[in-house]
Amino acid sequence: MVETHTQEINAVSCGRSDLLSRARNSLSNFIRSLDSDYFAEGADVVRARAKTVELSRCIPFIALHAACLAAFWVRPSVFTLFVAISLYWLRMFAITGFHHRYFSHRSFSTSRFMQFIFAVWGATSGQRGPLWWAAHHRTHHRESDKENDVHSPVQRGFLWSHIGWITSSANIPTDYSAIPDLTKYPELVLVNRFDWVPPFLLALTLLIVGDMLRLSCPQLHTSGPQLLVWGFFVSTVVLFHGTCCINSVGHIFGSRRFATDDESKNNLALALITLGEGWHNNHHRFPGAARQGIFWWEIDVTYYVLRVMETVGLVTDLRKHPEEAKQPPHKITPPSEIESDKQEIAV
Ligand SMILES: [Zn+2]
Ligand SMILES: [Zn+2]
Repeated sequence: MVETHTQEINAVSCGRSDLLSRARNSLSNFIRSLDSDYFAEGADVVRARAKTVELSRCIPFIALHAACLAAFWVRPSVFTLFVAISLYWLRMFAITGFHHRYFSHRSFSTSRFMQFIFAVWGATSGQRGPLWWAAHHRTHHRESDKENDVHSPVQRGFLWSHIGWITSSANIPTDYSAIPDLTKYPELVLVNRFDWVPPFLLALTLLIVGDMLRLSCPQLHTSGPQLLVWGFFVSTVVLFHGTCCINSVGHIFGSRRFATDDESKNNLALALITLGEGWHNNHHRFPGAARQGIFWWEIDVTYYVLRVMETVGLVTDLRKHPEEAKQPPHKITPPSEIESDKQEIAV
């Protein structure tokens, strides 16, 4: 009788420890799933996979676009539209000024604190972390429109260069070997690993603030759902396609001032919607320059804002393109010397 009772106690305690261990495993798996650097099979194995569009990886993009359909039911007030448009420009600037010209090309300097702010600000765009962005972009410049370019429309067509490449799990891991100058900052690595946190917090803040304003400032005619749908989902999707156009449109439509060894183009319309990134042929010729518009009429809003930030001391040492950049193309340094520019990116 006593023996049977002891066996029952042992069985119960075994069951409990089994349950505890399973709960611990689930919890640790859940935490790891939030970490963009965690791959059960190892990052190198994932990176070696075939570079193809993967339907399962399309789901987040489909969901993000589908969320915009709510805009048909949630009519925006003037205030809500102002917030949505402001968030587009503010985050476009973070992508062009920080993810691109700072983290990818180091075309100016700043303090470690501001660098962290830039990283979080850029990450609110929902376009992954600054280190992932910079690593892929440096590869783009090294291999531009060649076989190993991650998003070349010349190699794999418009759709692949615009969005397809992001849905391939081979392009998901961050190649830390391409950005040794950035990985020495643990705070940047942290933002990169949990890159979903800034956009999530932005969406949550919009929802909460919208509802607070509905109650405290009814004259604004706004609400949590309005700010969430228009300020986050619509603004983020438009921002996403604006940025993607640089990879796709920027290598197909436009003119070429410089005979770079790729198909990069200068395009005024692209420059207007991307705050100056449309001068993509100029940029491929002088990738280390903070300014992409070379002539006064080549509108480059990102550069103008960076100049203001330099004036107030937030950034320093904006790198310039050489004076010869303004000479007719035939007098420009031949493309054979472009390699020296490309070395500057692989810090
Ligand atoms: Zn390019
Ligand atoms: Zn670039």
